[in-house]
Amino acid sequence: MNSTPRRIRMHEADNVAIVANDGGLAEGAAFEDGLVLRERVPQGHKVALADIPAGGEVRRYDVVIGRALKDIRAGSWVHERLLAMPEAASLEGLPMATAKSAPLAPLEGYTFEGYRNADGSVGTRNILAITQTVQCVAGVTDFAVDRIRKELLPRYPNVDDVVALEHGYGCGVAIDAPDAVVPIRTLRNISLNPNFGGEVMVVSLGCEKLQPERLLPPGSIPLVDQRGDGSLDVVRLQDDAHVGFMSMVESIMRQAEVHLKKLDARRRETVPASELVVGVQCGGSDAFSGVTANPAVGFCSDLLVRAGATVMFSETTEVRDGVAQLTARATTPAVAEAVVREMAWYDAYLQRGSVDRSANTAPGNKAGGLSNIVEKAMGSIVKSGTAPISGVLAPGEKLPHKGLFYAATPASDFICGTLQLAAGMNLHVFTTGRGTPYGLAEVPVIKVATRSDLARRWHDLMDVNAGVIADGEATIEDVGWQLFRLMLEVASGRRKTWAEQWKLHNALVLFNPAPVT
Ligand code: CA
Repeated sequence: MNSTPRRIRMHEADNVAIVANDGGLAEGAAFEDGLVLRERVPQGHKVALADIPAGGEVRRYDVVIGRALKDIRAGSWVHERLLAMPEAASLEGLPMATAKSAPLAPLEGYTFEGYRNADGSVGTRNILAITQTVQCVAGVTDFAVDRIRKELLPRYPNVDDVVALEHGYGCGVAIDAPDAVVPIRTLRNISLNPNFGGEVMVVSLGCEKLQPERLLPPGSIPLVDQRGDGSLDVVRLQDDAHVGFMSMVESIMRQAEVHLKKLDARRRETVPASELVVGVQCGGSDAFSGVTANPAVGFCSDLLVRAGATVMFSETTEVRDGVAQLTARATTPAVAEAVVREMAWYDAYLQRGSVDRSANTAPGNKAGGLSNIVEKAMGSIVKSGTAPISGVLAPGEKLPHKGLFYAATPASDFICGTLQLAAGMNLHVFTTGRGTPYGLAEVPVIKVATRSDLARRWHDLMDVNAGVIADGEATIEDVGWQLFRLMLEVASGRRKTWAEQWKLHNALVLFNPAPVT
């Protein structure tokens, strides 16, 4: 790594670039073209490439990310306090399915070793999930899961893990409110995630609002019906048969063993890469997210779509400012209308709380050089690559077919991951600039660092270093291919991600836009 001052401009029309050097650059640092810094600029932060008058446009990604609040001289640090944020893009008059790009060339011959399910979906892990109807049962289930891991799992070596699907929902909620459909279908669809092999078992308290039959109604769950009689396997803690705590634990363990036996009989088989269902998101973003990691994920997303696989991008507040790009890329006007429907729903949801999309940015984003949500959005949306958008999911819905999907979710890392699990994700890709140890118990999470400095310090938490792009040591395409190949290795169980290695498991957090009582 050399210490020559380096900066990265995303588009030739931009009048700002970001400083690439580790540790930033000092006042007086001179770039090769003669531009001299008038003050210290931290790494990832913007430097003005030309004089910008008060009220003038500040452009990055060839988009106006703000207007100068006062005169800014060339070589100055352009930080958030110098920028007025633009208004949100209107949802009227958008280009609907207008982008007519040439179809991407098919990518053939890539496979991985996965667990084929009866419904045709494919798991990347073989996990017993224990669904809970209500938070009340979490402690008892946890106790039982601990014993299952110690006493039963060693006898079923083909099963990777047992996971309690703990959540905060189920009672004390307005379960008949229209928006209650979101948390309920999320929990239902997570229970049917491909990594759980269709072996659904439920722990219920007994008196809760979310009764097992409401969560997983008979007849509507193909995987459950394939068990034979269509009945649901439920352990109810309040059943008269339970006398004392240990009898509850033993009921859960007894039922768990029925499912463990079936899961243990499964074997991996070679399946096409088209069976990957990849959810992408970012968290702890910095200005490099949109320069290194997210473009590499976008390139990889195109590879996946070309291979016939499914990719979901999400985080509504982070794509809201790029809505015109999304509606234009929709395959049909109906898909474009669904994009607008989800954005409008989210605008109204935020308005109820007297905030707007600008509530998204965190202090760490700003410290990392992202001045506002417009700049963050432009860097976030590139994760979706360039493929046509073939469908839209409302929060908690399940994927109906393959291709590139906009799965509408909040940007909250935990809620986004939870909703992508419900959609049917079997592999998760997470980019981070500031650094987060994020992981999920249900699917492997591949973490991509935006900067080499983070990748060095967090060497046993980050799976891929996209910082080499900013260092000039690799291209976006190189890192995209590296990620694609790593996905096939991880999906096949030949490699564990660092989050799997250390068992870093974030909580499931259900999105509940409905009232609690
Ligand atoms: Ca996120």
